[in-house]
Amino acid sequence: MIERIEALRAQGQDAVAAASTSEALEELRVRYLGRKAELPQMLRGVAQLPPDERGAVGRAANQARQALEALIDARAGELGAGELETQLREDTVDVTLPGAPVQPVGRMHVLTATQRLLEDIFLGLGFTVLEGPEVESVHYNFDALNHTPTHPARARTDTFYIERPQGPQPGSPEELVLRTHTSPMQIRAMEAHPPPLYVVIPGRVYRPDSDATHTPQFHQVEGLAVDEDITLADLKGTLLAFARATFGETREVRLRPHFFPFTEPSVEVDVSCFHCEGKGFLRDGTRCYLCKGEGWLEVLGAGEVDPNVYAYVPTTDHNAPGYDPEKVRGFAWGLGVERAAMLMYGVPDLRLLYANDLRFLEQFG
Ligand SMILES: [Zn+2]
Repeated sequence: MIERIEALRAQGQDAVAAASTSEALEELRVRYLGRKAELPQMLRGVAQLPPDERGAVGRAANQARQALEALIDARAGELGAGELETQLREDTVDVTLPGAPVQPVGRMHVLTATQRLLEDIFLGLGFTVLEGPEVESVHYNFDALNHTPTHPARARTDTFYIERPQGPQPGSPEELVLRTHTSPMQIRAMEAHPPPLYVVIPGRVYRPDSDATHTPQFHQVEGLAVDEDITLADLKGTLLAFARATFGETREVRLRPHFFPFTEPSVEVDVSCFHCEGKGFLRDGTRCYLCKGEGWLEVLGAGEVDPNVYAYVPTTDHNAPGYDPEKVRGFAWGLGVERAAMLMYGVPDLRLLYANDLRFLEQFG
């Protein structure tokens, strides 16, 4: 029996020395030292041997097992180090090479890209970007913006009201709506920050309209500037800078009288048509389709902040000293992101912006 043990030990030693991979070595570990291998079986059988043989056989088998274990561990270390080195050498990746084939990457939706562009323009003029809640109270959406109680936009068919069984009574200032414009943030911004204030407020707004020129959800970029010596000329200069950055360096702007509840005076702002250079007709003499021969494109609404609006900003607020209509003046404007994108990129139908057709979207960015 002792000879058999020595034979196994010698055989195992030769096999381990010849093993060339970690995998082969693991097979040897199972073959010589695994539960069903001969050597461990012998060790387990020692108790059944005649008493005078037990000591010698047990010792020899134990020594052989320990020797093989040590040998396998040492060989595993050598093989592992070599294999790691080979793997590192072979797996080297040159991260400066392009993927093969080059994988398509995503891009911003044309509306997001347009909104970011508009934000950048006004950031460059010294405005700060603010965002606000899309679910808004009637107070902020209408009351504080000088909408009379009978203003048509308040109609339950013209605004998405949030119905809550335990909520405030319909018509109460606390009733909630999906904001119909980004203008509520004018009030929230003034409540939170004392003058002077220069902010732009981008975001989604909601109205229950759906046809070729309206979608129930759309985007606005609102602007508000309040300071001590602001005039309509500052508004015009700001919007001229916007028009030139967006539609070309040779653009002009034109203000036409209009009415909005929260600005007085209010204006519609037109930008000279970039397609016909404001002439209204093209080189071949045909009428410009974009401005319909007008030479001007209606782009946004604006005006001086109505002094009544300042009265809605509490004067006792924590750190804002309030907005004194005798001291401050300001202007505000609201711009449709969809309208800007359609003009900038010549998109003929508003609904294309929401159809998620990749053939359309992949043209931008
Ligand atoms: Zn034109």
